[in-house]
Amino acid sequence: MDTSNPFFNLDRNRCILCSRCVRACQEITGVGAIDMANRGYDMKVATFGDATLMDSICLSCGECMVRCPVGALIPKETVSPAKEVKTVCPYCGVGCSMYLGVKYGKITGIRGDPEGPANQGRLCVKGRFGIAEFVNHQDRLTAPLIRKNGELVEASWEEALSLVASKLGKYRGEEVALITSARSTNEDNYVMQKLARAVLGTNNVDHCARL
Ligand code: SF4
Ligand code: SF4
Repeated sequence: MDTSNPFFNLDRNRCILCSRCVRACQEITGVGAIDMANRGYDMKVATFGDATLMDSICLSCGECMVRCPVGALIPKETVSPAKEVKTVCPYCGVGCSMYLGVKYGKITGIRGDPEGPANQGRLCVKGRFGIAEFVNHQDRLTAPLIRKNGELVEASWEEALSLVASKLGKYRGEEVALITSARSTNEDNYVMQKLARAVLGTNNVDHCARL
C-alpha cells in the first residue's frame, strides 16, 4: 500500500490494472504522475522511479481516485452523506461546480459536478480536499468583526458595511487603496476596480494573489 498521500491511499492489493487512473492523470489532469510499471504478474501502478505518491510529481487532485472502479485508490476517510448540496467552489474565480456531501450539518465529502460548464466534474486539490476542514472549523469567521475599544466584536453585515462606507466617504484619490481577492469572480474584481477608478478616483488596486 502507498499511504503517503494525505488525502487518499493506493491499495495495490485491490487493483485490477485497468489503467483508468493512469489515463485520468495523463489525459485529464495532464500531469502523468503515474503509469503501469513492469509486465506480467509484476505489473503495478507506479510513479517514476517507484517513489511514493508524496515523493512524485502528483498534485493530489484526486482525479485518479474518483475514477478507480474498485476502491484501490480510495479517500483516507469516507462518510456516507445524508444528502448532497450543489454549490460553486469558493477558492478561485474559475467557478467549478460541485456537490457537497452533508451529514448532521457537516461536510463529509465533495464531488465535482459532471454538468458544471467550467469543470465538467473535475476538481483540483483545493476544491476536492481543502474545503471541509475550514468550513467545519470552529475558528472560522461567520460574521463581520468591528474593533471597539481595542476588542474585535461581532457585528451585523449592515453595521459593518455602513461603517466601511462612512469611512470611505472621508477619503478620495490616492488616499485610498483597494485590495481584491482571487477567491472572487472576475466579474466581482472588475466591479471592484471600477469602484476604485471611477468612484473613488484611485489607481491603487491590488490583489491577494500578489501578496
Ligand atoms: S492525484 Fe492527480 S496528479 Fe496525483 S496521480 Fe492522481 S490524477 Fe495524477
Ligand atoms: S484505476 Fe484503480 S483498479 Fe484501475 S489501475 Fe488504477 S488503481 Fe488499479
